[in-house]
Amino acid sequence: MINLYDFTLQNLEEHLVARGEKKYRATQLFKWIYEKRVGSFDEMSDVSLKFRDILKEEYSLEKPKIFTKQVSKDGTIKLLLELSDGSKVETVLMRYNYGNVACVTSEVGCNMGCAFCASGLLKKKRELKVSELVGQVLVLDDLLKEENSCISHVVVMGTGEPFDNYENVLDFIRILNHPYGFAIGARHITVSTCGIVPQIYRYAKEGLQINLAISLHAPNNEIRNKIMPINRQYDINELMEAVKFYEKTAGRRVTFEYILLKDINDSKECAIELSKLIKGTLAYVNLIPFNPVNELKYRRSDEKSVHDFLDTLMKNGVTATIRKEFGTDIDAACGQLRAKNEKK
Ligand code: SAH
Repeated sequence: MINLYDFTLQNLEEHLVARGEKKYRATQLFKWIYEKRVGSFDEMSDVSLKFRDILKEEYSLEKPKIFTKQVSKDGTIKLLLELSDGSKVETVLMRYNYGNVACVTSEVGCNMGCAFCASGLLKKKRELKVSELVGQVLVLDDLLKEENSCISHVVVMGTGEPFDNYENVLDFIRILNHPYGFAIGARHITVSTCGIVPQIYRYAKEGLQINLAISLHAPNNEIRNKIMPINRQYDINELMEAVKFYEKTAGRRVTFEYILLKDINDSKECAIELSKLIKGTLAYVNLIPFNPVNELKYRRSDEKSVHDFLDTLMKNGVTATIRKEFGTDIDAACGQLRAKNEKK
């Protein structure tokens, strides 16, 4: 069976034309599945019966299934979804005052091996298909429908490295962004990478207005090498060059994410070094309180260090904010739910 959610509009047009169908059918189908959100081909009343029969025989509208659902006191919802091969992935809904944010997983497991991250406790099994990326947002939208609401923002910040699943993540973004798809504005979509430098260059040239976030987490190679293995492949200077290229080519600034880990990267010296490092870029810094992971030795910086770090950045001319936390009561941190489930 061919899953219809695997196609961008353009890919679907090409696919249908190649099998002798009319091109406009693609728009028709897109509107049924994304605008009207029908769950079966029988509901597609303006599609000929003959073509509906073909669809029923050869195509599917399969979505991931909810395996477990946790709801936090703050309204955060964390789902463990089951895919058709039995793999499980996490998807989170966060409620900000400006909208409903879906945090989407890009791979089953992750090979980046960041020392502080629970996702990497389970190695990558495979990349997610477009339909499985799209499916995460569809499932959250189904839940939100009961509140007459929907997903307004998407961050590809769940388990996995989006730039390690580049083509599928970009197709997913095209579907999110398309007026006949989810119609979510580019500025409402963010992709986060640990710093796969060649892919940053590639992404810069796509001409997309999607937000780019970069997991920096250290002000120099010495610390970054210890906590992020990717830095041994593409070091911090190469990363900064890529960021500058992106800023020039795409005309957008990036966000640097920086997890504060007690006694590792949270000193005043680190804050000063970080300000120097990113001088010459337009970037701003999003400070992330570390979400403790049982299996790992790292600890969270205390509140005073977090605020001192922020102050030092600001005094040195860097725009920075502290990330709001969600769902700490429900394992919402990065891969914890899945890791727990696999252990059982
Ligand atoms: N691979 C991508 C996207 C997934 S991780 C990337 O590295 O950006 C999304 C963000 O969550 C990253 O900034 C990551 O460093 C951060 N993160 C991972 N584990 C965390 C933890 N225990 N507490 C807080 N943030 C964490």
